[in-house]
Amino acid sequence: MTTTCIRSAAWAACWDGARHVYRHDVDIAFTDDAIVHVGPGFAGDVDIEVDGRARFVMPGLIDIHSHPMTEPAQKGVREEHGVAAMYGSSLYERSVAFHLDEDGRRAGIEVAYAELLASGVTTLADLSSPFDGWLDFHAQSGMRVYAAPGYATALWRLENDQEILFDWNEGRGRQQFEAALKLIAEAENHPCGRLRGIVYPAQIETCSEDLLRDSIAAARDAARPFTTHIAQSVPEFLLITRKHGKTPIEYAAELGLLGPGTILGHAIFIDQHSWLHWSTRRDLGLIADSGSSVAHCPTPFSRYGQTLEDLGRYIRAGITMGIGTDCSPHNMLEEMRTAAILARVTAGDLETVSTADVFHAATVGGATALGRDDLGRLAPGAKADIVLVDLADVTMQPARDPLRSLIYTAAERAVRDVYIDGRQVVADGKVLTLDRADAAGRLAEAQARMLSATPQHDWQGRAAEEVSPLSLPVG
Ligand SMILES: [Zn+2]
Repeated sequence: MTTTCIRSAAWAACWDGARHVYRHDVDIAFTDDAIVHVGPGFAGDVDIEVDGRARFVMPGLIDIHSHPMTEPAQKGVREEHGVAAMYGSSLYERSVAFHLDEDGRRAGIEVAYAELLASGVTTLADLSSPFDGWLDFHAQSGMRVYAAPGYATALWRLENDQEILFDWNEGRGRQQFEAALKLIAEAENHPCGRLRGIVYPAQIETCSEDLLRDSIAAARDAARPFTTHIAQSVPEFLLITRKHGKTPIEYAAELGLLGPGTILGHAIFIDQHSWLHWSTRRDLGLIADSGSSVAHCPTPFSRYGQTLEDLGRYIRAGITMGIGTDCSPHNMLEEMRTAAILARVTAGDLETVSTADVFHAATVGGATALGRDDLGRLAPGAKADIVLVDLADVTMQPARDPLRSLIYTAAERAVRDVYIDGRQVVADGKVLTLDRADAAGRLAEAQARMLSATPQHDWQGRAAEEVSPLSLPVG
């Protein structure tokens, strides 16, 4: 048994049983993987003392939606890539045109995990197509991981700019589903003890109804979280409404996919979204009444000119909101800033979302979505997933309100130390478990291979420079 005490923390965001509150001059002690004390004057035996006098201590952040294998290779490619006939979304064209090889995915995941750890993420939902050794990578990283191996009945195909076509293959979807369940069971039994799984049919429109029904049963039977991409684009909304006469959220409700344990990524294009001019106002209530959660990842959509249109509206409806990093950068603190600002801009109302709301979503909200009451909070009995922020860092000063300094200005630059399950994984801003610089080099080489192969995959046979031109002409 090892007990660590962060002594006399100048500021801490502590959980009082109902909400996060600031406290001054507190000791935070943890023995092995669990917090044993939050308050003044810890009197127990201590093996490791950490000076907290210039520190803001907060619970580790919980990221409930990410694609860390593939997204890092999209840096410089997707920020301004969109398709007008797809209402700005580049999702379908990008997914068809750009293929990252396995070495690239191995490099990408290491880059992304290093970014995530450095920005204070301690629990991650990793939505990916696995490679051999994926779970061992999770264990090596030190992250607390919800492994979500993806599968689908259909693959997207394009023959023009405006219509999504599907190559259906029920057998392939079934095979991937069975493999995913096997991998989830391996995660749950992994000796590191920090891995769990999420049942993850990739998209609402690419999976057959049978596969979706069996997926939700596999999740519910074993008390596992369930997630899928839903209401993430206008083309998807139009496709589902034409095919089923229901909004994607209504369709999910009809299939029995909603309920506690279900995480909807991203539930942006619900019936009342202004881009749809749909006449019903049922979707928010369906999500809220069912107890489902929403994974809110504002950055990629904002680059298309799209927003969730008021995060505050979802929170006031009673929906459990969590935050995710759906693209590069995998910077959870910047994602929280974007979530706050875009909600206010879209609502035209400063008060629609507070910093406390966003912090709650990125901690306890995410934990609730994953069915955990021992994560996302500094309280005795909670897991020792803890972030120390340097109040003396120039980006934090003046640190009148540490969360505001951290979220609106400093971000990861002020994150010094991160503990997960009581083990230190970031020390003085450096990730101890991964080699970010080496991975970044391998990623650059893999991106070059991905881009040179683009003409073989793009539906028009275009070069990468035509699909996604550089931001300035070369000349
Ligand atoms: Zn996603």
